[in-house]
Amino acid sequence: MNDYRAVLLRGGTVLPMDGSRSVLTDTDVLVIDDRVAAVGSGLAAPEGALVVDATDGIVMPGMIDTHRHMWQTAMRGYGADWTLTQYFVWYYLDHGTLFRPEDIHAGNTLAAIEALDAGVTTVVDWSHGLRTVDHADAAVDALEAIPGRHVLAYGNIQQPPAQWTGAPEFRDFVNRRITGDDLLGFQLAFDVTGDPAFPEKPAFEVARDLGVPVTTHAGVWGATSDDGIRLMHEHGFMTEQTIYVHAASLTADSYHRIAATGGSISVSTESEQSAGQGYPPTWAIRAHGIPVSLSMDTSVWWSGDLFSAMRTTLGADRSREHLSAHAQDETVTHCSLRADQVVEWATRGGAAALGRPDLGSLATGGKADVVLIKNDDSPVSFPLLNPYGHVAFQAQRGDVHTVLVNGRVVKHNHKLVDIDLKSARRAVESTVEHLRGTMGEDAWQRGMNPDVPETKVLDNPYTYTDYRSAATHRH
Ligand SMILES: [Zn+2]
Repeated sequence: MNDYRAVLLRGGTVLPMDGSRSVLTDTDVLVIDDRVAAVGSGLAAPEGALVVDATDGIVMPGMIDTHRHMWQTAMRGYGADWTLTQYFVWYYLDHGTLFRPEDIHAGNTLAAIEALDAGVTTVVDWSHGLRTVDHADAAVDALEAIPGRHVLAYGNIQQPPAQWTGAPEFRDFVNRRITGDDLLGFQLAFDVTGDPAFPEKPAFEVARDLGVPVTTHAGVWGATSDDGIRLMHEHGFMTEQTIYVHAASLTADSYHRIAATGGSISVSTESEQSAGQGYPPTWAIRAHGIPVSLSMDTSVWWSGDLFSAMRTTLGADRSREHLSAHAQDETVTHCSLRADQVVEWATRGGAAALGRPDLGSLATGGKADVVLIKNDDSPVSFPLLNPYGHVAFQAQRGDVHTVLVNGRVVKHNHKLVDIDLKSARRAVESTVEHLRGTMGEDAWQRGMNPDVPETKVLDNPYTYTDYRSAATHRH
């Protein structure tokens, strides 16, 4: 399956994501080696090519997630009822330190497989559990073993950034493992506390020295604020490559600084809605003209696909627009955020954030990271009237039929190709066993089930006979 030199996706509805937001019906996409060779009608299949019938399907570029803590996928779903408070206690103070290199490997492996399955062909692994270089080697071993495109955003929440970025073994790791492979990018990942002494300065200098971008959780309620942005700006560390994650509780001053220096914001709407970093900021970002990409943050809470990110981002933006209009006794008659915009953020937006104009579109000559959404057995697959709306609101990961990364077929006919899911499962089970066993059952259960605050039920001025009688019985 992976030996095809050419792949022809025949007769699909193609979203080229070339900036025009056009829709090409009954169109072929030809991939040769690692590139998109042609997009057009009636293209001839080269000898020996894999021909995929894309009729009734949507062909689009692979999606790009610019912020995912892949190691945490080993604990999928555990934190469903968390806020940031429980998250910080778990990963920063207590149990994040229990992750061994093999646990990072297990989480990264499963996350990388999960991404491919959902048509997410590029993931920034915001890897802040790298307590030692052995952990970092394990992270990269996992990323290299799965045929997705990854950017290792190296981080270590257990040490100040100046300390771990200054360690000789860190430099040695960069020299050994970051070799310019097109499928493995590199960034530094750390947060800026806002301490006026700006202790993160040496870490920014390391990034500058290495010539790599910095990604940082900015505008996280209770954790990072305008002070961090101001310090970065005053010291000249805000660049076009900087990715600000969340940026959800910042004032206009910070947005002005981000816009003026050309960086982008990674919006994690599902995360911001549950965890409490601030309201998903697309409404504010729009007003400042800042480029956007999408991310899903961590599978410890949320789903690892960008369909849900697109859907929830549209919902949050529109919900806020209606709510603020209603507060002024006004009516929103036209939504500001459109379906084609979130599809663009999930593809071209991510590529722009990563400085990769060869990704995120189906332009001829670009890298062949391609997704076919097609599910003939699904009643949700037709009629296909509004393809951008279909991707954002109708499609889901089970509809991802075929995925190519760098021209290689990694999923076909709804099945992952050459992926050992059984061994990924065994590894994650052994990580869960380790964490659960080390913490003890009681701490494990309490971590998963935070206390629910008491709700005061308001007095109701209305009465209803049957209801009251039922209520009397209850009390
Ligand atoms: Zn995050």
